[in-house]
Amino acid sequence: MIFEILTIFPSMFSSPLAEGMVGKACDRGLIEIRVHNIRDFAADRHHMTDDRPFGGGEGMVMKPEPIVGALRAIQASGPAARSILLTPRGRMFDQETARQLSLLPRLVLICGRYEGVDERVEQYFTDDQISIGDYVLTGGELAAMVVVDSVSRLLPGVLGNEGSALEDSFSRPVLEHPQYTRPRDFEGLSVPPVLLCGNHETIRRWRRGQALHRTRTRRPDLFARLDLSPEDRKLLEDSNFGDR
Ligand code: SAM
Repeated sequence: MIFEILTIFPSMFSSPLAEGMVGKACDRGLIEIRVHNIRDFAADRHHMTDDRPFGGGEGMVMKPEPIVGALRAIQASGPAARSILLTPRGRMFDQETARQLSLLPRLVLICGRYEGVDERVEQYFTDDQISIGDYVLTGGELAAMVVVDSVSRLLPGVLGNEGSALEDSFSRPVLEHPQYTRPRDFEGLSVPPVLLCGNHETIRRWRRGQALHRTRTRRPDLFARLDLSPEDRKLLEDSNFGDR
């Protein structure tokens, strides 16, 4: 899959996306991340990418010409690509959106700065608008990295263990169960004995109960949408979750 990123700060992407699983996926040719400097598509002498807002107000707005110029160059360079503007006014990014995007061959991510991007870019030149949360960042670069990272790990071959993406929180509509590793005792805090019992069915039930309980207490919005099985109800009734 190819990610085409439009930004005025290309160097922000070099280190974060060169590390870990995403870095390995690039090395192995499973994904390609192309970072384009919007400034290179500004036609004026000073390579201006922003200007004052019509109607007055604080800050600067990103001009449409350089972004649309970059989009056209990208679209002309290969198969049609879906273009997404990162914006706090977009629809909320989630695991299902990541899954849908992972099916595409090529994706363009446009990173805004300042007070945002001229509205005409959003309305007439992008296919979608995505927000990564109800807060405001200084720019779309971190949001684009979130999208690249979460989409990449769903692509075949990117994770060492294909099953782990399926087990993650949100891949099923419950939060993931708690995870523990060595040491068995850490500063007097012990791993739950059930995880040491060796009985896979007992462990599976414990994990399911914990996942359901966690979802109920931390994300009641997700819990309300769950279709609980009779076993789920029993696990929630019978278990002592010992919340701190
Ligand atoms: N004035 C804009 C507003 O209130 O909607 C906020 C602009 S923000 C300071 C600058 C850029 O950061 C945006 O154009 C967008 O690309 C990015 N950005 C900020 N918060 C974001 C979020 N929650 N999700 C995705 N992108 C975001």
